Amino acid sequence: MLLTVVVIASYTQGMGVGTGTNRLLGIRLHRDHRQALRVRRALLGVVAYLMWISVGIYLHVMGLMRVELGWLLSYILLTLITNVVFLVIIRLDWNLRFRDPGMTLVQIGFGIFWGMVLLYQAEPVARGGMLLIFVTGFFFGVFRLTTRQFLGLTLFASLAYASLLRLDWNLMDADTRQTEIAQWLFLTVVLIWMSFMGGYVARLRANLRSALSRIEELAHRDHLTGTGNRRAITGTLESALQACVEHGGALAVALLDLDRFKALNDKLGHLSGDAVLREFVQRIEHELRGEDFIQGAPAEQLGRFGGEEFLVVLPGSNLAGGRAAAERLREAIACSPFTTEAGEVPVTVSIGVAEYRQGDSPEDILRRADRALYRAKEAGRNRVEVN
Ligand code: GH3
Ligand code: MG
Ligand code: MG
Repeated sequence: MLLTVVVIASYTQGMGVGTGTNRLLGIRLHRDHRQALRVRRALLGVVAYLMWISVGIYLHVMGLMRVELGWLLSYILLTLITNVVFLVIIRLDWNLRFRDPGMTLVQIGFGIFWGMVLLYQAEPVARGGMLLIFVTGFFFGVFRLTTRQFLGLTLFASLAYASLLRLDWNLMDADTRQTEIAQWLFLTVVLIWMSFMGGYVARLRANLRSALSRIEELAHRDHLTGTGNRRAITGTLESALQACVEHGGALAVALLDLDRFKALNDKLGHLSGDAVLREFVQRIEHELRGEDFIQGAPAEQLGRFGGEEFLVVLPGSNLAGGRAAAERLREAIACSPFTTEAGEVPVTVSIGVAEYRQGDSPEDILRRADRALYRAKEAGRNRVEVN
């Protein structure tokens, strides 16, 4: 019993959203994290089966099973084969072609079926307690099932138990019949309750998952302009630098700062300033999308670094390529006036470009880009300088 508790505790430790490793006791379950989680769940199913098999063995020893040892051994073999089949399906990625790659419903269905087989062979006096088999099985559903699927399983379990009683009906005396009918009713009521609770928990879990991805999205987005924020663009820069270290290749960054933006704010008001920042981002993203030498989504390559300062990461570009790209960005801003509530307004941007040098940290390359930007400002604004 203690062993079971320890095994289950160690399994469930690694089963939270976004936690856990792909390994168990040093063995890699699957290279993919989600698939590894499914292997873990299937193994947890094996633990549940083993738990009930030990109950079956105990009942057999106590003379409360109506079968020979040979039957019990075949039963153990068949249930283990069922589990091995599930594990093999996940290991070979066949489940990814199914509508529900978790195979939750099928696994619970098999659990109920095998539970029912064991239950049928138990003496009626032992059956009441064994009905808990269904509770263990149903618990697996909280990973995924909807209330409707739960109710389907309830119907299946309830009808299966009823037909099991029907098979034995003539062998029972009046008292046993009464007890069995009461047990059947209790089982059905408890499973219906579990269906609604389980469906509710599964919905909470799904909501939590989408809330988490929404929070992650918000944590990386700039509220005003919709582009990446400083955290996002710094992350892009760090990954791009890491790629340069690991695989070589070029990388350039462009630091953009709107010219005389304070004056624009003072003249047209803050709201118009905000509108200019939004259109600025739209123009830059549009321009980045047109650049075929830039890989990745523009939203990930552009980020608001602070106030009216933006950073563009250009993987694969050297200093010359970075300068050419920056020149196009500058032109895209200066080419035509911006539209605001307060009328049309000319906007320009100064850009400092730097390229990756061996051993650079993100701060090193940004510092050089900033120096170049400073020179661009000094030299009269609306220009690109490289460093
Ligand atoms: P320079 O050409 O030297 O860059 O001049 P500048 O006026 O752009 O430089 P400065 O850094 O002095 O001013 C930046 C201004 O940007 C100040 C601030 O009011 C404005 N700003 C920063 N964030 C926002 C924002 O979210 N909305 C608006 N409307 N203005 C902002
Ligand atoms: Mg500034
Ligand atoms: Mg400025």
